[in-house]
Amino acid sequence: MPVINRFAEFHDEIAEWRRDFHAHPELMYEVHRTADKVAELLRGFGVDEVVTGIGRTGVVGVIKGNKNGSGKVIGLRSDMDALPIHEQTNKPWASTNTGKMHACGHDGHMAMLLGAARYLAETRNFDGTVVVIFQPAEEGGAGGKAMVEDGLMDRFGIQEVYGMHNFPGEELGSFQTRPGGLMAATDEFTIEIEGVGGHAARPHVAVDPVVVAAHLVIGLQTIVSRNVDPVESAVLTVTTINAGDAFNVIARTAKLGGTVRTLDENIRDQVEKRIAELVPAMAQSFGATAKVTYHRGYPVTSNWTEQTAFAASIAAKVAGEDRVDANYPPSMGGEDFSYMLQARPGAFVFLGQGDTADLHQDTYDFNDEVIPHGCSYWATLVETAMPLK
Ligand SMILES: [Zn+2]
Ligand SMILES: [Zn+2]
Repeated sequence: MPVINRFAEFHDEIAEWRRDFHAHPELMYEVHRTADKVAELLRGFGVDEVVTGIGRTGVVGVIKGNKNGSGKVIGLRSDMDALPIHEQTNKPWASTNTGKMHACGHDGHMAMLLGAARYLAETRNFDGTVVVIFQPAEEGGAGGKAMVEDGLMDRFGIQEVYGMHNFPGEELGSFQTRPGGLMAATDEFTIEIEGVGGHAARPHVAVDPVVVAAHLVIGLQTIVSRNVDPVESAVLTVTTINAGDAFNVIARTAKLGGTVRTLDENIRDQVEKRIAELVPAMAQSFGATAKVTYHRGYPVTSNWTEQTAFAASIAAKVAGEDRVDANYPPSMGGEDFSYMLQARPGAFVFLGQGDTADLHQDTYDFNDEVIPHGCSYWATLVETAMPLK
């Protein structure tokens, strides 16, 4: 069962939805027009239930199969939000909201999941229930977390959950995934150093926080190079250093900031712990103090082994074995589908877009040729996981 023919018939219509979303991008939780359109389309397909306002502006559709002997409930997720970017594509469907743009392809994600929902509501060729999930605020607002905390999984009885992201640079219609950490936990830290200010010519009666900051930047590098197991992955980057206002004054304080990216929750814990241990101790050795503030962002997008093998088998049905990489290298970017994978077993996959601009570039546009591949993946997943006997 490769790409399902029915989606070739819908293709133009699905692409029209996609281009309409693209022309009207909305940010974070403010996806009101988008959510309204998603809900309206779902109602038009005759899905059994449409619920809005989950996780503030999330939308959920419930589609029951021709039978419900299996008692299975599977969630399929799309994100809905755009980015604060000035679009430069010059496409006829380019953004009409100045300074906002669908530069991550969430317009395409919605269109593909809506296409699948229409097909599934029309055919209902499965034994169980599908819950289609449209979430706000993937781009930094943790909309996935908001929906989970709003009771998404329990309220709809979701047992497994699947997600998909388009992937520029990989062959059109190919799939990539891996079990375990597919995308990174994305954390931030700030360090406030306090020394003793004074005259630049009399350093012996001051405690120079700039020198402490310099040592801390170097010292922090030893966490990845000397503490983390070399076969694991971690990134620690100091991205900001701020101190001082004059050539002849030793500042009293200095401030550092940076990011930590990890693919395993234990490594994440280890890096956070080592920063907390190392920084105050190093500062103290110079006679200064240093306070660390560590902010945890999205967790690791950690694919479940069994569900990932299943997802890869579905991808192989749609794309062919040779166009599926089930052991794809992880990305150090983040994704808030991670919260849904903490709540339920499931898997996240990438879908190759062909040779397009990269995600978050102002020249990016979702490749509509991908639509039947993504729709077929969703529909085949449902019909295979919950077959009519
Ligand atoms: Zn993005
Ligand atoms: Zn995205």
